[in-house]
Amino acid sequence: MSLRLLVATTSQGKLRDFQTAAKAFDVEIVPMPGIEEIEPPEENGTTFEDNARLKAAYYSRFAPGELVLADDSGLEVAAIDGAPGVRSARFASDAGIVDSPDAGDNTDIWNNTHLSQRLKGVPSERRGAKYHCVLACARDGAVTDTADGEVYGVILESPRGTGGFGYDPLFFLPDLDRTMAEIDLETKLGLSHRGRALVALLGMISPRALDERT
Ligand code: IMP
Repeated sequence: MSLRLLVATTSQGKLRDFQTAAKAFDVEIVPMPGIEEIEPPEENGTTFEDNARLKAAYYSRFAPGELVLADDSGLEVAAIDGAPGVRSARFASDAGIVDSPDAGDNTDIWNNTHLSQRLKGVPSERRGAKYHCVLACARDGAVTDTADGEVYGVILESPRGTGGFGYDPLFFLPDLDRTMAEIDLETKLGLSHRGRALVALLGMISPRALDERT
């Protein structure tokens, strides 16, 4: 019997990422029914893990008995003390550049512009960065497992590529000689923080959850 995981996200992009990354596993990844009607919790944690745990525990209370998966992720740039970190989605709005992180479709553009600005004059050898993702799984309000994934890169001075989202056009992968916005989705998930975190989590939970259910 395959394992069923409800994903607590309203993002079609993330859902597709998880479904693609889970292909090698006998796991059914489905959107959490009715999530649009649930008031989201305040993401007030200071780490990705805090936020992933609080979201998973919170949403699992709305789906009794089900395993619910939530994530938190972002970009950490060493030259600016790990910023934007847990504030990745709100980097430009925290700086007062846009009113709200959801102000139209330009959030990613403003965030990237702000990042380029903050790194102005920083030489390439000091532009190292990583994407970090933490996943948490919960059932009936209690977190059962967490896993994380990271991928290292270098922040370019100007964007390249049209794929991906968020900071992908500035996130350069030296081994591939491409940015995250210049590679296809399957390649991205094979090496990305989100793909790695999901594979780590499924490796932990799928045999055990199957044992529990059979
Ligand atoms: P969250 O996990 O939805 O809270 O993501 C926070 C923010 O981190 C996003 O809005 C993006 O700005 C950034 N981010 C997370 N993962 C990625 C990625 O795979 N590519 C580009 N940006 C990302």
